[in-house]
Amino acid sequence: MGTCKRCGEKMTGERNCSYCGNSYCPEHQLPEKHDCSGVKNWDTEGERFDSGFDGSE
Ligand SMILES: [Zn+2]
Ligand SMILES: [Zn+2]
Repeated sequence: MGTCKRCGEKMTGERNCSYCGNSYCPEHQLPEKHDCSGVKNWDTEGERFDSGFDGSE
């Protein structure tokens, strides 16, 4: 059992982010939902942190 590193929600089972290795609830499991430290180089093209892009699904 673990807790989401982002919101602290308790979870059954383990869902570790495959990029940073931390556990997150389903809601925060996606790297972009928890400011994943393992994917900083995703966004090297520009230093924009606008949320104009939201098409992960
Ligand atoms: Zn969470
Ligand atoms: Zn992560």
